[in-house]
Amino acid sequence: MKAYRPFNAPEYRKNAKRVKAGAEPCALCGRSVEEPCLFVEVTGGGMEFVKVGVVADVSDPGYMGCHRVGSDCAKKLKKAGIAVFAKEVES
Ligand SMILES: [Zn+2]
Repeated sequence: MKAYRPFNAPEYRKNAKRVKAGAEPCALCGRSVEEPCLFVEVTGGGMEFVKVGVVADVSDPGYMGCHRVGSDCAKKLKKAGIAVFAKEVES
């Protein structure tokens, strides 16, 4: 299984610089993501996505909260066992 890391795709930086006003970069590829969209949780100081069935420890200093993901990236992440949410997780 492919291991996905947040903010780490080869094109991430280039894409994230071009994010449109009012949008945020996709946590995987860095492309513009506007709402409505899907969300993932990032932890490990930005090194890990939170997996399905895992309750993220929001008091962990490495917990970075919810980030937007584009629909294509959300599909890839779901297949890799990463928890994808329809709403921003309250923490
Ligand atoms: Zn993406």
